[in-house]
Amino acid sequence: MPVTVKLVLGGTFDPCHIGHINSARALMELFPGSEMVLVPSKTPPHRDKPSASPEQRFDMLRLATADVPGLECDNCELGREGHSYTFDTLAGYRRVMGEDPLVFVMGSDAWVTLPSWYHWRQLCDLSHLLVMTRPGGNILEEPAELKEWAQSRRVRETDQLLLAAAGLICHVTLPQYAVSATEVREAVSRGESTKDMLHPDVADYIARHQLYLDNDNHGK
Ligand code: ATP
Repeated sequence: MPVTVKLVLGGTFDPCHIGHINSARALMELFPGSEMVLVPSKTPPHRDKPSASPEQRFDMLRLATADVPGLECDNCELGREGHSYTFDTLAGYRRVMGEDPLVFVMGSDAWVTLPSWYHWRQLCDLSHLLVMTRPGGNILEEPAELKEWAQSRRVRETDQLLLAAAGLICHVTLPQYAVSATEVREAVSRGESTKDMLHPDVADYIARHQLYLDNDNHGK
């Protein structure tokens, strides 16, 4: 029986942009037959203004993913009481997946912050970790404890992730899309075009709901 791989990309998605979607497409090509799900996180209090509400971020995710076969979004973290952790999300997927491979995907900027995440070492008990190089060429320093912890788990080839349910770490460089949600919010607030950064339906949604107009980047 073929192995079913589930890929999970967490993020704020404020808003979802072509860097997310095109990276997701490239990842699903790397793992033929895989399913991929985008999971928006709750917004920490310091990011609330001028960001979109959780419901608006989820609406935009749905619009951005609607025409991509195999790509879904899941609002499981938004509905949770209290804090909402990646650990709990991956535990939920693991419960329904049996021994099939689960791959949590993150950009290299998120990877270097991993030691501040809830139960970060236990994430590998539930899932593999796949780190995508983030465009921009910045060399991000890995904290020493992360480097040491990751050393014995690293594999070079993404195919190796198919051989186990969880526990491995792989770094990949996909086609690079040099766009961030910060740049999108800034462009909208300056009245500049976001045509090359967003799905047209997401751009329409932002205009209709007058999002990010007074962005002063406190959200970052
Ligand atoms: P912000 O600029 O507000 O920080 P962002 O563009 O980084 O937002 P997030 O929602 O925080 O978007 O990103 C979710 C995940 O996707 C993170 O792991 C991030 O590293 C990754 N990611 C975001 N943009 C890209 C991109 N252009 N290429 C590759 N990975 C990306």
